Amino acid sequence: MVGSAMACSLGMDPNLENKKILLLEAGHKKVMDSVPDTFSTRVSSISPGSATLLAGVGAWENITNMRCKPYKKMQVWDACSDALIIFDKDNLEDEMAYIVENDVIVAALTKQLNSLSDNVQVKYRSKVVKYTWPMPHQAADSIPWVQVTLASGETLQTKLLIGADGQNSMVRRELGIPTVKWNYDQSAVVAVLRLSEPTENNVAWQRFLPTGPIAMLPLSDSESSLVWSTSHRLAEELLQLDEESFVDAVNSAFWSNENQSDLVETAGSMFRTALSALMPSAGSPRQLPPSVAAIGPKTRVMFPLGMGHASEYIRHRVALIGDAAHRVHPLAGQGVNLGFGDVACLTHLLSQAAFNGKDLGAMQHLLEYETERQRHNLPMMAAIDLMKRLYSTDAAPMVLLRTFGLQATNMLPTLKVSFCSCELLSV
Ligand SMILES: Cc1cc2nc3c(=O)[nH]c(=O)nc-3n(C[C@H](O)[C@H](O)[C@H](O)COP(=O)(O)OP(=O)(O)OC[C@H]3O[C@@H](n4cnc5c(N)ncnc54)[C@H](O)[C@@H]3O)c2cc1C
Repeated sequence: MVGSAMACSLGMDPNLENKKILLLEAGHKKVMDSVPDTFSTRVSSISPGSATLLAGVGAWENITNMRCKPYKKMQVWDACSDALIIFDKDNLEDEMAYIVENDVIVAALTKQLNSLSDNVQVKYRSKVVKYTWPMPHQAADSIPWVQVTLASGETLQTKLLIGADGQNSMVRRELGIPTVKWNYDQSAVVAVLRLSEPTENNVAWQRFLPTGPIAMLPLSDSESSLVWSTSHRLAEELLQLDEESFVDAVNSAFWSNENQSDLVETAGSMFRTALSALMPSAGSPRQLPPSVAAIGPKTRVMFPLGMGHASEYIRHRVALIGDAAHRVHPLAGQGVNLGFGDVACLTHLLSQAAFNGKDLGAMQHLLEYETERQRHNLPMMAAIDLMKRLYSTDAAPMVLLRTFGLQATNMLPTLKVSFCSCELLSV
């Protein structure tokens, strides 16, 4: 998703029209003549900022012509207490975000790449097997550009290599860029859910269970996408369950109060009463999530979760974008949105460099890219990691702390809006 968006974005920039752009993709070409009847299990919550980027590269119209579901509200609540927070249209101006299948995003970008064939070339089934790096201060025996060797044996040279090769990035590894990373004790189980009855279905639901967050994201009036992050063991068990038991487990995860304690309940309700006395009209009322009747025909799949951050996003003639540079827990729906932010930033700086007749692979503007993006991505990543940790326990002091925090935030519209404008929760 991120590499294709980068190629489109560079290919459409007027200052870069004389440059030759090549996208190398190990996989096959993903075209979509018509949208499949069934929804894919892999979806992303796309923020309005990412939608603007995709619109700018001409792919958003392709997406909306295919399939995409906007949502206007998000309810996040704690399974260990009554605390909740609702982000809704009253606090925000436009759609909160959009649920789009990853295949639809890639197909929309692929369609757009086809129309940019003058300056953007795409080679599918072209796996890079070797990189040779130039030295910043060219030694006599060093090559001036980055050299790329494909599995076919073909070699290519480029003034700027953009590594958008995902969480296990070979570009990052081969450059020896130090990376802070760890695996979470969780895997995400994804599936398509059929709701018991059609509804407007314009709310994204997320409940924090002690084993991890479970999210139900709208796909259509009667279908939603499930992202259930839980312990590896429970994830394995969920995949093995028959359909009826799986549906029961999902409904129970959203509805059951078995994790709540009297102490937290009493303290939470006293705090809520005190807040209501101070701000009688504040706070959005709780809504009940829809119940699930069945799962779609696509197989349930699980993904181990982790976090990773490259301490450097750039080297001489190289930049990392997307999951190659940073990987986050899906609880805030931010992974690909951060990647699209990288695309917007790098395009802008490369466009300026080309306009000023600079060498695109020079460190000067690449450094600006690194600084700008790390300044944005790192606080976001830290917040997501903190949220994961804060909600991974049912110890009473932590439950009370987050109960008070969530209730207070829900009562304070300005705080909620600032949550949204910092794009946490993919708004
Ligand atoms: C369960 C789950 C739910 C998620 N939900 C959301 C969400 O709601 N919102 C959100 O913003 N993010 C979400 N994410 C995160 C999001 O999926 C990732 O951030 C995103 O897929 C990263 O995209 P990317 O293009 O950077 O990397 P990738 O999707 O990994 O793409 C890397 C590409 O590089 C190619 N490649 C790799 N090596 C080579 C090579 N040697 N030669 C040639 N090609 C190569 C691969 O074939 C691949 O196409 C979620 C993640 C998970 C696991």
